[in-house]
Amino acid sequence: MIENYQGISPRGDLLLLRKMGEKFAGRTFLHVNSTRAGGGVAEILQRMIPILQELCIETRWEVIEGDDRFFDITKKIHNAMQGNPEQISAEMWAHHREINRQNAERLDLDADAILIHDPQPAPLIEYRKCGAWIWRCHIDVSNPLPDVAVHLNRYCSSYDAAVFSVSKFAQALGVDEFIIPPSIDPLSDKNCDLDADEIAAVLQKYSLPQDRPMILQVSRFDRFKDPIGVIMAYRMVRKYNQCILVLAGSAATDDPEGDAVLEEVKTYAADDPDIHILLLPPFSDRDINALQRAACVVLQKSLREGFGLTVSEAMWKGKPVIGGATGGIPLQIMHGVTGFLVHSVEGAAFRIRQYLNNPDMAKRMGEQGREFVRSNFLITRQARDYLSVWYCLENKGKSILSI
Ligand code: UDP
Repeated sequence: MIENYQGISPRGDLLLLRKMGEKFAGRTFLHVNSTRAGGGVAEILQRMIPILQELCIETRWEVIEGDDRFFDITKKIHNAMQGNPEQISAEMWAHHREINRQNAERLDLDADAILIHDPQPAPLIEYRKCGAWIWRCHIDVSNPLPDVAVHLNRYCSSYDAAVFSVSKFAQALGVDEFIIPPSIDPLSDKNCDLDADEIAAVLQKYSLPQDRPMILQVSRFDRFKDPIGVIMAYRMVRKYNQCILVLAGSAATDDPEGDAVLEEVKTYAADDPDIHILLLPPFSDRDINALQRAACVVLQKSLREGFGLTVSEAMWKGKPVIGGATGGIPLQIMHGVTGFLVHSVEGAAFRIRQYLNNPDMAKRMGEQGREFVRSNFLITRQARDYLSVWYCLENKGKSILSI
């Protein structure tokens, strides 16, 4: 399996990964999060656990269980930590803690390294017996509601270390902090190579014409992804360039606003036959892969964003990308080198036209994007980084010459 990344991932990453594997062979590594499927965290864990196991690290993945009330509360905590106004009462915090206590009774928390993902299972730290405990925060907690942050941080600051995706998402917890961006798996259905027949079949399945360049955005129907702004930019471009627009996404089941946004987008698109709004069923990874490969320009015109992994997904496919300058997108797009960052509808329209009118430049930037993803955003790098944090914690205080 790791062998399959040979020739794809940087050699240095694979070498370091194997060296770390030698160090930690036979040791135990536990991951705990709150869902087995759905969302980026689960997706990365599904792909990463087998890599760690292949290194002979005894890796387990546990999922906490809770009632509906627990998940309502944790959704509110999640939103509040991202700055949305929410009220979390003392009873709600008590329930959050109690459900974690019940999970601690049920789960085997013994391991040499324990990576706890996001706020839902953060209170498990109270049941630590041994090992290095690391809190892995996947969300933007740079500007949280103060009282919610104070409460949650009582747990987080008891860990040995905290890991954030982007430095500006972090907050000082008074523990060792590491920055580890997320990643994509080049071998997964969403990112693996596809042959031309499969791509053509997907275009046919969604009745997408192949005679004009396709502008694509793949996103949940969420206002922060700015689907309306994408249509506005497309309409500006259409005055001068022949092209079609594809907005592909799903109305996330845990987002009550998703359906309303989808309706707004459909209304705004009116009956323009060149705007294709595709509502994808869950687990459409190969279709997403095919759409990204068929596109001529890929947008992620977000107004607010977590990391925005769709950008790396498109870059990995050698596509010229345009992204809103927000969240983790500027980490992936080096403006003018691996893509363009935009701050407005007009900016997006301008950059789409620039790509359409300069295919050589678009191709060059797409290639540069792919190499940038190869060096920075593949799953082998992320696995390497997790093991490096564990290594740092175990060797804390030792001279570099002695480890
Ligand atoms: N995605 C998907 N189906 C959809 C829309 C998006 O599977 O209908 C995938 C997309 O390919 C990417 C992930 O969901 O892998 C979205 O991650 P990102 O970081 O871009 O945004 P988020 O949705 O987490 O805010």
